[in-house]
Amino acid sequence: TIMNSIQFPLLDRTAPNSVISTTLNDLSNWSRLSSLWPFLYGTSCCFIEFASLIGSCFDFDCYGLVPRSIPRQADLILTAGTVTVKMDLSLVRLYEQMPEPKYVIAMGACTITGGMFSTDSYSTVRGVDKLIPVDVYLPGCPPKLEVVIDAITKLHKKISQELYEDRITSQRMNRCFTTNHK
Ligand code: SF4
Repeated sequence: TIMNSIQFPLLDRTAPNSVISTTLNDLSNWSRLSSLWPFLYGTSCCFIEFASLIGSCFDFDCYGLVPRSIPRQADLILTAGTVTVKMDLSLVRLYEQMPEPKYVIAMGACTITGGMFSTDSYSTVRGVDKLIPVDVYLPGCPPKLEVVIDAITKLHKKISQELYEDRITSQRMNRCFTTNHK
């Protein structure tokens, strides 16, 4: 974003704890958390619940969330539904195509632990965090819409407290993490 391109060179050249870099970091965080663009990734019933948020009734847009169907235009992915073993490489590839810094919300029991498929199934990934790093876990079957909004609020809080450089560094390490799981 524009804010990140302004902030990044200044942070490199000035003392990390200076007033300017701290203010720019806060401004950058504020701009990112106010305009998260979620990638539409739904594999089963949890996505039906999520999709109802996009309608006018819940005014999802008032949080700055503009759903995208192309990963290169998104910086947030809600994994809504069961992730199967056959789909794991596709999910990692989609995640890698998203620009940094990017965020993940794991929505529903199936995506967090495998849910009802966590014991006997040979075909289900038992925890999406085995594939990509998760920022907020959103339990439920399916989670209520109020809980989805609560997860967005938690993610906003997390972004507001992070250092941009730390986020980028950890995401570069995560790139190795996802590569090792291919
Ligand atoms: Fe469906 Fe429940 Fe699994 Fe969500 S957690 S995908 S609602 S079975």
